[in-house]
Amino acid sequence: MAGKKLKLNIACFKTGDSDWKRVYRPYIEGANALLKPHNMELGIPSGDPIGIPYQGPVWPDAGDPGTLRAQAHNALSQGVGIPLIFCILGDPTVFGMTIKTEDAAANNGIGWLPYILISTSMRNRAGDTIVHEMVHTTFPHRGDIHDSDPHSIFSENGNISDNVSGPEVEKRLSKIYAERLRHAYFKSA
Ligand SMILES: [Zn+2]
Repeated sequence: MAGKKLKLNIACFKTGDSDWKRVYRPYIEGANALLKPHNMELGIPSGDPIGIPYQGPVWPDAGDPGTLRAQAHNALSQGVGIPLIFCILGDPTVFGMTIKTEDAAANNGIGWLPYILISTSMRNRAGDTIVHEMVHTTFPHRGDIHDSDPHSIFSENGNISDNVSGPEVEKRLSKIYAERLRHAYFKSA
């Protein structure tokens, strides 16, 4: 018996100069492949990324994420899922970044629910970036500690960028993290 899949809803946005097409489809497909064995999938009620005017790199300590988040709110004021904002991250070594309610400096002091920034400067060949960042949102502030298993989607290492050559590391979503995602604030009712 295949029950109805639980949806994890996302609302996608793109900054003016982001190379969003580089990562968008591969990351959606990568997330759905990881979620499928757990009878979950992404829901994208607002469709392809919605443009926001921000240009240039995003630096967390400068409050840039809060600026992006406010622009996303202006573009789509109705909360339909966790915001996923495709942009150029100031730190070129990370695929994505989760901003939490408690990150006051990044948020310019506004208590947004957790949201995700996705770098378009490189593509994670493992395709697990969305699910990895979603797992971050399920932990309390500073309570998220990466997994040491390189095959885990919640490990820090083993993700290979399309900018470098090297062996691909197969990623899995364990039951423990899947269970956390089932209770995420952006799951379908
Ligand atoms: Zn992480």
